[in-house]
Amino acid sequence: MLGHSLLAYRPTMSSSESSPEKTADFKSLGLSSNLMKALDDIGYESPSPIQQECIPLLLNGEDIIGQAQTGTGKTAAFALPLLDLIDIKKAQPQVLVLAPTRELAIQVAEAIQTYARYLKGFHVLPIYGGQAYNLQLRPLKRGVHVVVGTPGRVMDHIKRGTLNLKGLKALVLDEADEMLRMGFIDDVEWVMEKIPEQRQIALFSATMPNIIRKVAERFLNSPKIIKVKSKTTTATTIRQRYWQVPGHQKLDALTRILEVEEFDAMLIFVRTKTATVELADKLSARGFAAAAINGDIQQKTREQTIQKLKNGKIDILVATDVAARGLDVPRISHVINYDIPYDPETYVHRIGRTGRAGRSGDAILFVAPREKRMLKSIERVSRQTIEPMKFPTAKAVNELRTKAFKQKISDTLSNHDLSMFKKLITEYQEESSNDPMDIAAALAQLAQGGIPLLMSEQEPRQERRSDRGSDNRSDNRSERRPDRQRADRQGASREGRKEGRRERSFDNDRPQQSRPRKLKDFPDVEMSRYRVEVGHNDDVKPGNLVGAIANEADIDSCYIGSIDIFDDFATVDLPAGMPAETLRILRNARVCGKKINISELKGSDSRSSKEKGAAAKRSEQSRPASKSSSGKRKTSSQKKPETKENT
Ligand code: AMP
Repeated sequence: MLGHSLLAYRPTMSSSESSPEKTADFKSLGLSSNLMKALDDIGYESPSPIQQECIPLLLNGEDIIGQAQTGTGKTAAFALPLLDLIDIKKAQPQVLVLAPTRELAIQVAEAIQTYARYLKGFHVLPIYGGQAYNLQLRPLKRGVHVVVGTPGRVMDHIKRGTLNLKGLKALVLDEADEMLRMGFIDDVEWVMEKIPEQRQIALFSATMPNIIRKVAERFLNSPKIIKVKSKTTTATTIRQRYWQVPGHQKLDALTRILEVEEFDAMLIFVRTKTATVELADKLSARGFAAAAINGDIQQKTREQTIQKLKNGKIDILVATDVAARGLDVPRISHVINYDIPYDPETYVHRIGRTGRAGRSGDAILFVAPREKRMLKSIERVSRQTIEPMKFPTAKAVNELRTKAFKQKISDTLSNHDLSMFKKLITEYQEESSNDPMDIAAALAQLAQGGIPLLMSEQEPRQERRSDRGSDNRSDNRSERRPDRQRADRQGASREGRKEGRRERSFDNDRPQQSRPRKLKDFPDVEMSRYRVEVGHNDDVKPGNLVGAIANEADIDSCYIGSIDIFDDFATVDLPAGMPAETLRILRNARVCGKKINISELKGSDSRSSKEKGAAAKRSEQSRPASKSSSGKRKTSSQKKPETKENT
């Protein structure tokens, strides 16, 4: 299928019989016709490897452990078969999905809604902390078939008697390792103890720490383990770069790349058939010679399109993996992974469409913040580092646009007979007595057709969840309740301690040094150091802070940086310039029963010596030395700060 000497790849499914070379289609997996119809609308062409494995097993009533991360298609892998389990006539929760963050809960609920579009009378509800209870109570009362929730809020509803799990048929733990990292594992176990004995469980986790293994052993029934292993290498003649770009800015990012990269022909990969057409249309509207190919387009038309790419009639082909199979066009100098592939093997296949026969090629991968893990897997599997891409600045783009504009004038002057226009303009100039330069400028404006020639300095930004609006925050009460905090403390403490020990040595002087650390994964994100008024004396652990900050303020945990815990307070590094609303929510958030009262610590460099003195004094005062007279609290020298690093 590949025929590419520089690629050697053979993925294997570790605990299942199936061979990855089988190319199943959704039909053969046994899904109902209503779901098939929805998949056709969405434009999924073929199941991803994890879907090929999970769907038949879940349809068969088995418990499964899927070692899979975001981007592998895991949501459809569990949602599709479990939707087929549901009895629509019974308006009660039959499937419960636990997810670590509100963002994921909403995303999963939306995906389920999309897959279930032809299941008449079907209802799915996301429930998460930070949203008013009454918004969740009404639909729960009316009856929903699937609930997707963060562990704390699900637990609250069970305790209040507003979520009844008697009719539950299946439970999904999505991103179990993330739930562990955020201090939710005790809540998860609490919920699992409340579900009926006769039920199915699907556990998804990118990694398998021991605690997750133990949860699986305790609750799952002879689970089948699904994991895609692979050995892959990529051609060294391909220069690989990635650009970290949130979904809604991909088109901007792509257009800018198209303007500044010198390319011959380009192959752009997207996930769905619909997306091939949409993107090709958008690129054509922006003046690029682009076309789409996907599995729905007839073979003959596909061949004609590929021929056009070969002979230079078009320069950009937007394709799905299926449609681009076996594509061999030597002039493809660039492969853009507009949508990240489900697995490293697909990535290797895709980029193998360039750099063929010893030529050099370029591969650019768009990575959303949540897909960072997939990037790491790709690097590991392909055994190559993918460099972060320096995004072309507006200045660079404008220089190129100016050059091209001037070139167009020169070309028009030398290639066209302009005598008629010359006569007309001379006439106009005499009548109006306008300056010829002004007339030329007006004509240039006309020629641009209302589209600005130069772009503004504003660049596509790195996504920060803290930048987003604060919808659904009418209820700012903490999701964490005192009884739950106890559970959190136990759960997070194990992880938190491990993280602290593993990643750095302790440093008692940290609070005085208020310069934040860069995030390891997002070095471009400017960080600030914040102080929160909970510490060892409150029994707080890094996991508690991560969980509370992520869920209350809707900040992705990957943007929560270094955490140092001291006796009376802790410091947390977070993206700089958070909106006032986010800070307000955080000030009121509670961890371990206490308001965290977050405040920004000013950068040590920028502080005046007076401020530095004051901060040092405050830091000194907050040390237990001043409180140790009570004899109850530990002093700094007795207890070292606990740290969590994301840096
Ligand atoms: P997930 O790993 O579940 O977060 O899915 C990542 C993305 O892949 C989502 O945008 C899905 O819509 C998309 N996706 C999942 N399965 C397929 C498929 N079989 N074909 C095309 N796109 C898919």
